[in-house]
Formats: sequence, structure tokens, C-alpha cells
Amino acid sequence: MLEMDLRLLLPSLVPSSQSVYVLVFYFVYLAVAGEILPGKVIRGVVLSDGSQHRYRCNGLFALSLLVAILGISAKLGVLSPLVVADRGLELLSATFIFCVLVTLVLYITGRTSSDKSSSLKPHVSGNLLHDWWFGIQLNPQFIGIDLKFFFVRAGMMGWLLINLSILAKSFQDGSLSQSMILYQIFCALYILDYFVHEEYMTSTWDIIAERLGFMLVFGDLLWIPFTFSIQGWWLLHNKVELTVPAIVANFFVFLIGYMVFRGANKQKHIFKKSPKTPIWGKPPVVVGGKLLASGYWGIARHCNYLGDLMLALSFSLPCGISSPVSYFYPIYLLILLIWRERRDEERCAEKYKEIWAEYLRLVPYRILPYVY
Ligand code: NDP
Repeated sequence: MLEMDLRLLLPSLVPSSQSVYVLVFYFVYLAVAGEILPGKVIRGVVLSDGSQHRYRCNGLFALSLLVAILGISAKLGVLSPLVVADRGLELLSATFIFCVLVTLVLYITGRTSSDKSSSLKPHVSGNLLHDWWFGIQLNPQFIGIDLKFFFVRAGMMGWLLINLSILAKSFQDGSLSQSMILYQIFCALYILDYFVHEEYMTSTWDIIAERLGFMLVFGDLLWIPFTFSIQGWWLLHNKVELTVPAIVANFFVFLIGYMVFRGANKQKHIFKKSPKTPIWGKPPVVVGGKLLASGYWGIARHCNYLGDLMLALSFSLPCGISSPVSYFYPIYLLILLIWRERRDEERCAEKYKEIWAEYLRLVPYRILPYVY
């Protein structure tokens, strides 16, 4: 049985020329759109050599235009809206091959670079696997495009495009269900919101601290779009009956998750830019002039992770509770965020010293008040 499944599976993993064209079209579109479409230009954090990157945050415009172009092309019969849903595995393996190739090029260019700037200075440990996996340069570029920003954008947009193709497929084969609609609405809102607030991305850990190697490229280009959409693929082949109270509860999990996630990230972002801005109508409580201890940051030290986890759960709840497969994303995120929170706290303890200790006294919970 397993042998037969593998025999069926393996051919669909081999990328056809069409899947390569889809990827090439996608990357070329993103490169051109990212450069020419208008958008707010944001200065990134100041790097150790005093330089600052500029990011053109036009992701929402680029995504809307792309969806419009694809929608019109599908209407005119130029392109099948099922192109992704029908070639999921092929696209996945084509993307994987691309990740390997591009990171080998990054490895070679990093190793041979003699640049001294913070962005391009090579960090070589001498261990080939380590350097390829974690990357050598902080902000490598290709024809003037910041690759790190480019890949994360490609991954988030790719997730929406996969979902839309899955939606089209469920229309076509008559399996469109309430569960599929709920899943699609929640993910679309999350992704659109991400691009509305794209500038916040410029100060995240991945952008400011992580070098560009296989780990990040694979995470952005393959992991985000292909594994975060597992629920959609699952719903194409499984039927779930949802009761009205279950749908209402699912909406609440999404809305509360969104409120906490966006609210917490926004409060920190505003606090870093103008530390005196009131939080929930009151002057902010600040520890040692540096750490915010009011609003969501006074409830738990990583309320933003709590919100993100609730959102992840809301994307899986439409699938019911019959299979753990559709809970892959929230389970993965729970493990990732607990690990990340531990690493972040270690870094903050080292950076802020007694101020951090005072913050721990004021806000004793890590993610979930009274539990963790
Ligand atoms: P945070 O946005 O929580 O940033 C942590 C940093 O914020 C700390 O290192 C410190 O940096 C600063 N900080 C911490 N506490 C305070 C405080 N009380 N007051 C002021 N500054 C503080 O972490 P991430 O970049 O990891 O996450 C950003 C978002 O991305 C989160 O919402 C997370 O859920 C989401 N995410 C989603 C993932 C996914 O796969 N869906 C994966 C990873 C993240 P400093 O030294 O600058 O002060």
C-alpha cells in the first residue's frame, strides 16, 4: 500500500516546466512590482556601522494588483485558477530546489565577499553546513533588491495565492463548505493585515539580526506558504459539519486573537517611536526608561505571541477536531514561540540587566497570564 502511494506521489514531486514558469513569473513580478509601485519608504534599524536600510513597503499594492491580474487572466481563460492547487507538490519541490540553489549562490558570494559594511560583511565559521544553513551575510542584495525582505514577502503572498487556488478548486469540484469559507476569511484577513502593517516587519528579529541562509530562505519561501495552508488542502478532501455555536466561537477566537496580537505589537511599536504616548488612555508605565510595562506588556511579557497563537488556532478550528493534521500550524507555532520567547528573554536579560529583573517582578507571566 505504502509502496503504491509512493509510486503515485513521486512523479508529482518532479517539477514540470509549467511549475518552473509559475515560480519565475511570480519572482519577476514581485521584483518589478516591489521596485516600481509606490509605497511608504521606511528606514530600518541603525546597523552597527551606522548605516540604515530603506524598505519600500508597497506589499499591499503589489499583492492587490497581482490578485487582480490573476483574476482577470482567469476570467479571460488565459490562466487556470487551479494552476497552484493542481500542482501543489510540484511547486513545492520546485521551490525547494530553488531554495537550495539560491542559498548555494548566497554561500559562494558570501564567502568570496570582501565587503566591510554591516550588511555585507561575511561571517564565516568555516563549517560549510553551518554557514550555508545560517547564512554568511546579513542583508545580501540582488540587482539592488534586499533579498531578505523580498523572500518574506514572497512567502506571505504565496500563502494567500495557494489558498485562493484551493478555494477555486473547491468551487470547481463542488466541495465548497462553511469550513473552507471560514478558513479562507481568517487567513486572508491575517495576510492582508500583515501587508497593511508591513513596516512593522522591518524591526523584527529576522530582518534585523538573522543572516540570510537556507534556514530563513526555506522558512520564508517554502515553510510559510506550503505548511500554513495545510488546513486548506485538508478541507479539499474532508467534509466537516460545523454548528452555529462552533462558528460563533471560532469567530471570537479569531477576533480576540487579532485584537491581542495587533494591539500588543502596535503598543510596542508606538512606544519605541514615542515613549510618552498614552496606553489605553493613561500615561505608560515604563521600567528604567526603556521597557513598557502597561497595556498588553503589563499583562504578560509576550502577549503578542498569545494573540498569534489564538489566531493560528482559529485557522484550524474550521477543520473540527477529527484530525491532528489540520492542527499542524498552531502546534508548530506553539513550539516555535515558546522556544523563541526563551531565547528572547535570555537576550533581554543580558541587554537590560537590572531593568529586566525589575520588569520580571512587575510582569511575572511570560505568555498566558496565571498559566505560563
Ligand atoms: P517581539 O515583537 O515580541 O520583540 C521582542 C523584542 O521586543 C525584545 O527582544 C526587545 O527588543 C523588545 N521588548 C521586549 N519586551 C519589551 C517591553 N516590555 N518593552 C519594550 N520593548 C520590549 O518578537 P518577535 O520579533 O519574535 O515577534 C514579532 C511578531 O511576529 C509576534 O507577534 C510574533 O507572534 C510574530 N511571529 C510569527 C511567526 C509565525 O511563524 N507566524 C514567527 C515569529 C514571530 P529590544 O532589544 O529592541 O528592546
